[in-house]
Amino acid sequence: MKKSYYPKIIVFGIDGLEFSLVKKWKLQNIMQKKHSKLDLSDYKVIVTPPIWGSMLTGKINDEIMEMWVKQAQISGLGINTKQKWWAKIGNILPPFLDLWIWYNIFAPLFGGDLFVKTANYIVDRNETNIFQFFQKPWTNGIPSYGRIVNNPKRKYEFQMAMYGNDTKFKENIIKIYKEDKKKLFSALNKNTYDIIFWYTVILDKIGHIYYKDTLTLMKYYFEINQLVGQIKTKFPKSHFYIISDHGMIKVKGGWGLHSKYAFFSSNTGEIIKKPYDLYNLILKHKTI
Ligand SMILES: [Zn+2]
Repeated sequence: MKKSYYPKIIVFGIDGLEFSLVKKWKLQNIMQKKHSKLDLSDYKVIVTPPIWGSMLTGKINDEIMEMWVKQAQISGLGINTKQKWWAKIGNILPPFLDLWIWYNIFAPLFGGDLFVKTANYIVDRNETNIFQFFQKPWTNGIPSYGRIVNNPKRKYEFQMAMYGNDTKFKENIIKIYKEDKKKLFSALNKNTYDIIFWYTVILDKIGHIYYKDTLTLMKYYFEINQLVGQIKTKFPKSHFYIISDHGMIKVKGGWGLHSKYAFFSSNTGEIIKKPYDLYNLILKHKTI
């Protein structure tokens, strides 16, 4: 077995990265040599954890997906279908009441807080995943593989931001982004990992709340574009893949909602069509 002295593969998992904005702002570093729009029509619900899970395992977990479908029918969360009655009521309730009702009445009836419950399902269910095919894999945590992107506290801050008080929300997403970036650099500097799968949720969170605020939106898209450029210059020999679980479209009120497609790019010219195709692509370069 050959040892890699630089990361053979670097994957940037960028939650919520919107294809059309990458094109519109000509973010060359993110576009790479080749890029494609990923089709999400196989996913009954366009929510974060099961899509990431499918990239890591090569398949959609039907049981996990059904749990999300059940909740989506009640909450109207991130779906292919139109907004359900519960979501409509939620829009007119103050956040504390909306969340209280959700966590105390609806969530217990419909499978609990799935963001928390399915945050580590690949490990919990012992599913075969890409990290098992590498000698020294590294990740800072991915939804479905050890990362909780939403919990009651985050959800409350999110709703407060929608109501105009975004201080805590912004403070926390920036703090988390900075921590993730620090972890990335420290992993890269160690020079011992053969696959580095870095995940960030910043563009998803920013996109949901600040879609109408073009300058804020641009600031973070350009920040990620610059970060990609920096890493690519430092590790020119690595296979570099960028992937998102879904994009973000602007809806009434200026908020962002998940779009029905996602983004992929590579510096090798390789292209995929569905998020779960990432699995076979990565396995082509396995080190075990
Ligand atoms: Zn997402």
